[in-house]
Amino acid sequence: MTMASIAGLTPADFARATWDDLLPYYRELVERPLDLSNVEEWLADWSRLEELLTEAGAMAMIAYTCDTADAGKEAAHLRFSAEILPRVEEQEVQLANRLLALGYTRPDLAVTVARFRTASEIFREANIPLSQEIEEHSARYQKITGGLTVDWNGVEKTLPELQPFLQSPDRTIRERAFRLNCGAYAERRDELAAIFDILFDLRVKTARNAGFSDFEAYCFKAKGRFDYTPADCRRFHAACEEKVAPAVERLMARRQKALGVDRLRPWDVGPDPKGREALKPFKEVGDLITTSRRVFDQVSSNFGGQFQTMMDDGLLDLEVRKGKAPGGYCETLHYRGRPFIFMNAVGVLDDVSTLLHEAGHSFHAFEAHHTPFIWQRHPGLEMCELASMSMELLAFPYLDQEHHGFFESEEFARARVEHLEDVLVTLSHVSSVDAFQSWIYTSGQGRDRDARDQAWLRIRSRFERGIDWSGLDRERITRWYRQLHIFLYPFYYIEYGIAQVGALQVWRNSLRNQADAVERYRQALALGNTRSLPELYRAAGVEFTFDAKVIGELVTLVEEELEKWRGLSGLGV
Ligand SMILES: [Zn+2]
Repeated sequence: MTMASIAGLTPADFARATWDDLLPYYRELVERPLDLSNVEEWLADWSRLEELLTEAGAMAMIAYTCDTADAGKEAAHLRFSAEILPRVEEQEVQLANRLLALGYTRPDLAVTVARFRTASEIFREANIPLSQEIEEHSARYQKITGGLTVDWNGVEKTLPELQPFLQSPDRTIRERAFRLNCGAYAERRDELAAIFDILFDLRVKTARNAGFSDFEAYCFKAKGRFDYTPADCRRFHAACEEKVAPAVERLMARRQKALGVDRLRPWDVGPDPKGREALKPFKEVGDLITTSRRVFDQVSSNFGGQFQTMMDDGLLDLEVRKGKAPGGYCETLHYRGRPFIFMNAVGVLDDVSTLLHEAGHSFHAFEAHHTPFIWQRHPGLEMCELASMSMELLAFPYLDQEHHGFFESEEFARARVEHLEDVLVTLSHVSSVDAFQSWIYTSGQGRDRDARDQAWLRIRSRFERGIDWSGLDRERITRWYRQLHIFLYPFYYIEYGIAQVGALQVWRNSLRNQADAVERYRQALALGNTRSLPELYRAAGVEFTFDAKVIGELVTLVEEELEKWRGLSGLGV
């Protein structure tokens, strides 16, 4: 085997690579003599290799999600995701071990080194086949849930196609759509529960192999959660139960009154309370882009410029199109130092929120790219989601007509109300999902499918109040089967709650001084992953917290703002 050098290579050179082509580059880094005099150069080469490889993989993924019908693109994406990237992990642990053995570190690499250390500590050869098995069963879950359909007036419809009916002003239509939607999951409940049993066993075994008594403790380590514990998350749940759930209950009571119904049933949560048509902020995706460009420019000329770069470089694929994968994402191309945004815009308010959110991720990528090594750029999701969720709130003031945004004044107020209500509902939802996952893996009863369903009902009712679910236990239980994170990405969820509390603080700062709040936010993004989470939050001018008092104050602020905007939105106070 000759010594492989990455000098002069670009991601395009790796576009067709197989694992056998790539291994020599890792071998060279594993075998190169290493000491304190050349460690920086060695790290730079390793980082450059990761940039090349992750960008080649990202390009393959982007090409595939933009055109899922092309078999060649699918094969290339699978080559990276299933063959190459899982093998990279093993090499990374070897390289990390070399760095750890050398004892080299510096302040802006401390978080990275801590991550390398935990990855190395919990790595077990025996867990590789287990994670492959987990992937297979996860894929079965996705296949079943992705293929669910219902009969709607003799026409076969997918569950996403039912969504508009859940918002219908006609209550009978909403109820029918709701029951069909839940029924599709309820019919497959035993099958899905059986998949979960297998995943549960595999995960518990993975944790045991790595020397952990419970899977929750293992996950905290594996996810590099250095700054908080399961006990902090329980404090967070309690705070949301005490402060957020009653606010959501008030919101639901208001909705019930507006709809004029004697009981607010779960199918009454979707529609506009005044029976108005859904907001239509734009017609063409071109309008979405140019209007957003103006919005970001008013948040900060930096962000406006970065968004313009994405427009110029073809890094936005936003319109819904046949053959595109569902959903939305922002992917970083580390070699070029550019992000890419993917979504399926159809002209609704959600599309605007999604673009603001993903743009927040993309500004993070731009700002952090100046750091020398790839690992210094992406902090934990607790910070990445603060970047995106804050942008949704920071950009909102510029969405009205006065700022050449998307909405005339009554629509603008309506959009604000919908967005802020959603913030509260999301906090409650996140708490219920996280508390449930914690119960699954620590109660000793998580392997019992009936006990699981009962636990969900119990936990859910702590956080979701004001909706009358009587006689609908079977339907309510299906909600957790629909939450793919619980099946595919265990314990990945509380990050959204932590980040939302951070983003609400950024927003609170912006209500006092928008320019200062934006500047601190930008500086925090530019720190990438070179500081701990509490330090990154502090740089953004906010507190990394699970505290009921802070959460309570933020909820009060949201409710005050809601009151103000409701008055302007035609809903009355
Ligand atoms: Zn996000």
